[in-house]
Amino acid sequence: MYDIERIKEAIRDIPDFPSEGIIFKDITPVLGDPQLFTMAVDAIANRHINSDVRKIAIIDARGFIFGAAIAYKLGIGLVPIRKVGKLPYKTFEQQYELEYGTATLCVHVDAFEKGEKVVLVDDLLATGGTAKASADLIDRAGGVLHEIDFLIELGFLDGGKILANYPVFSLLTV
Ligand code: AMP
Repeated sequence: MYDIERIKEAIRDIPDFPSEGIIFKDITPVLGDPQLFTMAVDAIANRHINSDVRKIAIIDARGFIFGAAIAYKLGIGLVPIRKVGKLPYKTFEQQYELEYGTATLCVHVDAFEKGEKVVLVDDLLATGGTAKASADLIDRAGGVLHEIDFLIELGFLDGGKILANYPVFSLLTV
């Protein structure tokens, strides 16, 4: 039904971006092709049709692209999880480890109704640190994380390990 191989082939490897040794997975060819973009959004959104999921939480910045389309298709709300200093109201903040140093993500304190079911969406799972920090924020803000959905999983990094407490779905693994 979904031609996942075509999506996989369209994702472009950019060596040494944004720094040496990183092979960046460039999803812009998927975004630029209406068939592939629709397929990617539908394949994730259809997992939650007729469910009691009430919010899609989206991770700054490429998670916004897919997550917004998924929420629109499901007719449910969106909650942005953003880098520090971007959200205008009161926030919970969560620090996490990067390869070099730390980073911080934030969510509005009133983003979720207590106990409402949430799906977290990002473009790519690498080490899992970003998604884990986002999951912690959802928990602190009163949401209940139902599933974490990615377009791409870098299988060799084993990022699923630190997300072991949550159901994780990746449309494709490379
Ligand atoms: P991590 O916290 O290590 O799982 O990193 C995941 C986050 O960093 C996601 O928001 C991705 O958009 C981004 N990211 C990490 N590695 C890559 C990569 N090789 N290509 C594209 N994006 C990446």
